Amino acid sequence: MKSTDKPKVAFFDFAGCEGCQLTVIDSLQNHPTLLEAVDIVQFREAMSEKGDDYQIAFVEGSCTRPVDESRLKTIREQAHIVIALGACAHLGGVNALRNWQSQAEVLRYVYGRMAVVQDSYPARPIEAIIPIDGFVPGCPVDREEFVQIVKMLLQGRQLRIPDYPVCVECKLKENECVFNYGKACLGPVTRAGCGAICPSNGVGCDGCRGPTSTPNMEGLRIALSEYGINEDLFIKQIKLFQSYQLIHDKRDDHGSQ
Ligand code: SF4
Ligand code: SF4
Ligand code: SF4
Repeated sequence: MKSTDKPKVAFFDFAGCEGCQLTVIDSLQNHPTLLEAVDIVQFREAMSEKGDDYQIAFVEGSCTRPVDESRLKTIREQAHIVIALGACAHLGGVNALRNWQSQAEVLRYVYGRMAVVQDSYPARPIEAIIPIDGFVPGCPVDREEFVQIVKMLLQGRQLRIPDYPVCVECKLKENECVFNYGKACLGPVTRAGCGAICPSNGVGCDGCRGPTSTPNMEGLRIALSEYGINEDLFIKQIKLFQSYQLIHDKRDDHGSQ
């Protein structure tokens, strides 16, 4: 197969720490056959070339500026498939923590006198701007899951990622539940696939992979209360990766935009 016959793939970055791109580079280095199967035309973290002809786009980072919107729309127009890469792109992620504060205050805090020239607005997932065809969850993404998702895309298969809670993986590992130590954990409502890495190391899940499609939030609240765990801890945990969703749900509850 000539290199031009291979599916053309591009990676893009918006607001994020670039940890997901670094994880992808690591994955590809360990899967040379996968690297051989595609033609990467743009990947700022890994190469200088910038090709604008691609079928599959992976987008890392959240949208934080009006100017990001036109770039996202251009990517959407070009790519047949757009995949959100990591929690910032998928959920808004840690960037959306700033959405709880006045944007003017946040800009002044970060940029001081230069704040006035910053064209920035509350952080949002890329799906708030363009339709997406799937996502690779996590902060950062899981190396092997990324590889599996690329394989599914290349084979034209429907993307399948776990839609059961982290608790399932945690129980299979026979971990003792962190609730027993008075710690909050979002494992009961968070999409599995990380191998319950946080609870396996004695800390509660912060929900970086986002919620399952049918999260039982009320059940989790009841369980926390039965264990005497303060609901504030649980709210703090959700805010870490899902501030955008919390703020939007609140607005929806009040019937406004
Ligand atoms: S999801 Fe996490 S690792 Fe990936 S870019 Fe955002 S902050 Fe970085
Ligand atoms: S530690 Fe968290 S993920 Fe593990 S069983 Fe308890 S609630 Fe579920
Ligand atoms: S346990 Fe939770 S916070 Fe930790 S990696 Fe898994 S989904 Fe993310």
